Amino acid sequence: MLKILKAMSEVNLDGFNPQMGEVSEGETVIGELNDDLKRMLFLMSSANDEQEELNVELLNDIKHHEQQHVNSDCNDKDCKEFIRSLREKTNALSEKVDSTTSMFWAAVKFEFDYPDGNLCIRDGFKVVSEPSDPSGGMSIGFVGTFPMDLDFEDLLASMP
Ligand SMILES: [Zn+2]
Repeated sequence: MLKILKAMSEVNLDGFNPQMGEVSEGETVIGELNDDLKRMLFLMSSANDEQEELNVELLNDIKHHEQQHVNSDCNDKDCKEFIRSLREKTNALSEKVDSTTSMFWAAVKFEFDYPDGNLCIRDGFKVVSEPSDPSGGMSIGFVGTFPMDLDFEDLLASMP
């Protein structure tokens, strides 16, 4: 069995009712997520939550590392090792966030026969489309939290 199907089958939807915002003007309700799509949304949200938790942990690591710079007991090798360890911790998880997000939206588009416009999910698992960007740009919105991207090089460059 595909791992994604196994993971979906293990999702308990009881109490899963994320606040996604109300349907706003200009949006057309094209349907509602069925339970399978809710399970995929659940997996995507969990991956995002995990990422947020990890980011808090990494920010603490970074603060700790910054302190080493203040105490000036960090050399280039330590710094490189530190960045490598940060990357290692984030890479697998950000792949998970990316893939659950792409799979979810691909499944929603497939389920609703590729409707025109940008798709969003609203309260009550309503699927809405909003008019396409007249400039021709197509963006798929997810109303919720996106993983915070940590730019390690920038963070390190800003260290004392
Ligand atoms: Zn360092």
